[in-house]
Amino acid sequence: MARIHILSENIANKIAAGEVIERPLSVVKELVENSLDAGASRISVDIRDGGTSSITVSDNGCGIEVEDAALAFSRHATSKIYKVEDLFQISTLGFRGEALPSIASVAKVTMLTRVPNSDKGVKLIIEGGKIIEEVPVGCQPGTKVTVQDLFYNTPARKKHLKSPNSEAGLISDLISRLALSRPNVSFKLTSQGRVLLETPGNDKLIDTIAAVNGLQVAKKMIPVEGQTSGIHISGYVSKPELSRATRLHQTVIVNGRYVKSRLVSDALQEAYHTLLSSKRHPVAVLVIELAPGMVDVNVHPAKMEIRISKEKELSKLITSTVQNALRTPKIVPLVEQTLNNQKTRTELKTETASKKNNEQTKFNFQMPRINKAPSILKNTVTNVNENKEIKLKNNDQYKEHDIKNYQDKDLLESNQEVKEENKNYTHKFPDLLPLGQLLPTYILAQGQEGLYIIDQHAAHERVLYEKYIKQRGTQKNSQMLLVPVVLELSYQENLVLTENIISFRELGFILEHFGGNTYMLRGVPADFPQGDEVEFFYEILETNTSNFYDILAAKLACRSAIKAGQKLTIDEMENLIMQMSELDNPYTCPHGRPTMINLSFEELTKRFKR
Ligand code: ADP
Ligand code: MG
Repeated sequence: MARIHILSENIANKIAAGEVIERPLSVVKELVENSLDAGASRISVDIRDGGTSSITVSDNGCGIEVEDAALAFSRHATSKIYKVEDLFQISTLGFRGEALPSIASVAKVTMLTRVPNSDKGVKLIIEGGKIIEEVPVGCQPGTKVTVQDLFYNTPARKKHLKSPNSEAGLISDLISRLALSRPNVSFKLTSQGRVLLETPGNDKLIDTIAAVNGLQVAKKMIPVEGQTSGIHISGYVSKPELSRATRLHQTVIVNGRYVKSRLVSDALQEAYHTLLSSKRHPVAVLVIELAPGMVDVNVHPAKMEIRISKEKELSKLITSTVQNALRTPKIVPLVEQTLNNQKTRTELKTETASKKNNEQTKFNFQMPRINKAPSILKNTVTNVNENKEIKLKNNDQYKEHDIKNYQDKDLLESNQEVKEENKNYTHKFPDLLPLGQLLPTYILAQGQEGLYIIDQHAAHERVLYEKYIKQRGTQKNSQMLLVPVVLELSYQENLVLTENIISFRELGFILEHFGGNTYMLRGVPADFPQGDEVEFFYEILETNTSNFYDILAAKLACRSAIKAGQKLTIDEMENLIMQMSELDNPYTCPHGRPTMINLSFEELTKRFKR
């Protein structure tokens, strides 16, 4: 065996680069995090060929003193921590002092930097980890780092890169998340000179969401806010009508750091239980602030993972806060015309790109204008019925959309209202007056916000479902069958039934074991339609999950609810609406489909071109 010796700094850096710098994305992450740590309010990132040819990150941050600049490229050189205790109170994104030397060992790096109160800056050129040039220069205050020919001296790494387009995609996703984590910083990402993303940096998260995900998404987000001791959460979550097939559209920020967290994502999913089908996921940006001692960020240099103590409290807080925020009539889907003048995200991006020289118009995305409500509605009170007065909106409330510099006033205002509502922990079901039935299955009702169309089956399904959930463990409401039904089960079905017999009993089924795989069904829940028993059992016994009671309650609600095609009297409609108004979640059926939609007066005005 060879003699033991200490590795040269250059080799050590290359080894560290193996961990820290995996692809262009990692370079961008490290450089942008440095800019954020430097207190920058503007950061631009320019990439060529997915970052493989070049990556430039420039910021208007604090810069580096001329005499420190070279040191920044030494291993374990950092200005962010001094002593061991600092490791447990980290408030910066970086702290290892590894990024710059690692990058410089696998690419050609140029850095220009100047501290704002000095009139000279410095330029450094580093190749293969060695400083080959260090000269004083005049430059903008702040720091600009250019990384060229990534992995030029480590061909094995280079071979594992994806196509430039995929690398650019990864980078764009990362910048989006970093931008969401710092709404007070304006980010700009260009690829081959084309603007891919630009955020206003006006410290408004909703405007950043609009810039990143498009205005249509931003309009469907509702604000959330909640706290318990040592934990504060805020942010935006999507109305159930906006969902995605994956969780990729959720961004979690913990103490200013974008992280990946299964825990948070699961807690969020839980809050949408019965508002979304289990295969759909909400869009969300959740900003979590934890007392510094509660989080350990020193887990892995490249993985976006952290350790959190009090996980249970956090998870509970997220679920309850989001659940609460979703209890609002604001989640009733609106019937909306897709206007020709509504621009797509791509169009907006191209537009931004073409206006890149004009600071003023940069964020001026035009919203479709909503016309004023007809004057006949002004301050009127319509007496539709002796006891029911439907107050129509005052004309002043139809404010014109005045959107300058990204500010969708209407959006912000309505979000503000929801915020107020959340604070009071109340949700007000709209005052609805049934007008009639649109066969086979819809109830038409008048409300303050226009016409509501209620799906009678879905609505009743929700009424029954919540009843079953709430009555659990209390009185059972069964009806005895005139002739008991014999259930002959397979081995597997018998197993499921035995395991979950309590759930069946709690819901009002009266079952008797008849020996072997045979059961006698003597009674069913009060609302259960007779004759459907056997089919119902075979269907439900195909499922075996840990939340069996819940699934059974939903199935039972579906079976027992008013069917499509069933004629209702006005009284019955009124009764159903009254029951809906008392629900926790009146706006979706237990499977996440809407129970009602709203055709607003504004929309009607628009459609009739008044
Ligand atoms: P770390 O971020 O872990 O401290 P880095 O290798 O990324 O390590 O950076 C080393 C040091 O260089 C930082 O601690 C900081 O003082 C300085 N630095 C790097 N980038 C910038 C920047 N954009 N603006 C100001 N200072 C910077
Ligand atoms: Mg760093």
